[in-house]
Amino acid sequence: MNLMLLGPPGAGKGTQAARIAADFGLLHLSSGDILRAERKGQTELGRKAQDYMDRGALVPDDLILAMMVDHINRPEAQKGFLLDGFPRTVPQAEGLDQRLVASGKRIDAVINIVVPDAEVTRRLTGRWSCPKDGRIYHEVFSPPAKIGVCDDCGTALTRRKDDEPGVVSQRLVTYHTETEPLVEYYGRRGVLRTVDGSVDADVVTASIKKACKE
Ligand code: ADP
Ligand code: ADP
Repeated sequence: MNLMLLGPPGAGKGTQAARIAADFGLLHLSSGDILRAERKGQTELGRKAQDYMDRGALVPDDLILAMMVDHINRPEAQKGFLLDGFPRTVPQAEGLDQRLVASGKRIDAVINIVVPDAEVTRRLTGRWSCPKDGRIYHEVFSPPAKIGVCDDCGTALTRRKDDEPGVVSQRLVTYHTETEPLVEYYGRRGVLRTVDGSVDADVVTASIKKACKE
């Protein structure tokens, strides 16, 4: 099974993707995490992406498409993958469709996680994450057992630079103008499932699992 999570920044895509991928045995492919790893490794792609990311703008479609198709075609993804944060524009979705058709694959369900802007802003400005294993926390909604430290590996948690309030509001504008049209795009293809993401994370997980079986 191949799945896709759609939703604004802060909707809980990363949180839910980790759970759903583990449960269904899928490879979790987060475009944001892959880009941050490229930046950390100071690759050419990482250097090209950094200014866009720091401004809350989207990295150009051709770079993202090539990067994600490379990951989708790797052997680890052959048992099924879960896309998180990609595609984010209609041209990315069209490019993905073409590549999937060419390789005889398809997306079985697109889960649209709906959360109002005010709530995602609260979530992003309190987000902390583990730079080592990627686990996501929130200082109020899902704090670690010991302040500032990852429960799983003991690494000091960090905040993303693009989670500052000014950049968050720009990312929301980008989401509404460039990414939200994908709701209609996948709706027309009959694969879209809508889930209320504003409730407790465990309830959201249960709704996503149910939606995948519909
Ligand atoms: P995204 O990948 O969509 O940007 P994240 O999974 O990183 O979203 O979640 C953003 C922030 O909101 C994190 O701090 C996370 O702990 C918190 N969060 C995620 N889901 C919920 C939820 N259902 N209720 C409250 N906070 C949540
Ligand atoms: P969030 O889910 O919290 O918005 P991500 O980690 O998915 O954040 O993305 C962080 C940044 O990486 C985005 O603001 C954007 O600059 C870049 N990015 C991630 N995915 C894509 C994509 N599919 N297309 C273009 N840019 C992307």
